[in-house]
Amino acid sequence: MTRLMLADAELISFVENRCYLDGGSMYGVIPKIMWEQHASADAENRIPLDTNVVLIRVNGRIALVDCGLGDGTTKRERKIYGCETPSRLEDALAQLGIDRQRVDFVIATHLHLDHIGGALGITADGAFKPRFPNARHVFRKTEWIAALNPDDRSLASYPSDRLLQLEQTGLVDLIEDDREVFPGVRVELTGGHTAGHQAVFVSVGDATVAIPGDIIPTSGHLRPTYIAASDLFPLDTLEYKKRLLNRIVGGGWIVAFDHDTQVKFARIRLDGGRYSATTVGELVV
Ligand SMILES: [Zn+2]
Repeated sequence: MTRLMLADAELISFVENRCYLDGGSMYGVIPKIMWEQHASADAENRIPLDTNVVLIRVNGRIALVDCGLGDGTTKRERKIYGCETPSRLEDALAQLGIDRQRVDFVIATHLHLDHIGGALGITADGAFKPRFPNARHVFRKTEWIAALNPDDRSLASYPSDRLLQLEQTGLVDLIEDDREVFPGVRVELTGGHTAGHQAVFVSVGDATVAIPGDIIPTSGHLRPTYIAASDLFPLDTLEYKKRLLNRIVGGGWIVAFDHDTQVKFARIRLDGGRYSATTVGELVV
């Protein structure tokens, strides 16, 4: 786990699980000879990716940005994500001393299984129930509609059945605009990866942490054209990412990566046309 303190705000990035996905699919049109400088592939051409969850404690509230695959995945889903280990979500929360009841917000960058699966726990008789029963679950309305009516290409990515069960609990808030979710935390539509994908920003005083979700999934994706093949609207990703990187570098912001196995929080520099990440934050067990 990596902790980042910003004045009186605390952000902790922890690993919910480890996935292995095809390296080529994670870098889209970029040839392997270039992307393998950032990620080493196994014999099956797969690269490791963590499902990182960011816990935010600010202004007396607790929020989670994304919550990983969770423990209700099917065998087929685990195969798709190349995930062989049990979810660490409950253990990580216990280690941090966070009671599930005390989480106020679950904010999803988007509703793919590896970002929202953990919002639902599974009971002994196999039923799904909300893991965070007192949290408002903040989703984009456009993303929600896409997740419940997936196109053929997105069918395997969205846990539509589980999302419907979450909706029945009355804990879901669907938002249609960029806004402050609660003091210090706001969301902004990015599009790109999916039409309703959003980024999350934590601001305390002059400091800002950007959580760009799958728009910049790892520190190996800082080049604007390094875009996953799974992005439905790659040119939108490209445009948003360029603008975001300008704001990040210009504002001295910190970035939290949602799938990096090494770099959880980083400052970004632009030197001679190349972006580079310098890790920040403190490793905590
Ligand atoms: Zn993802």
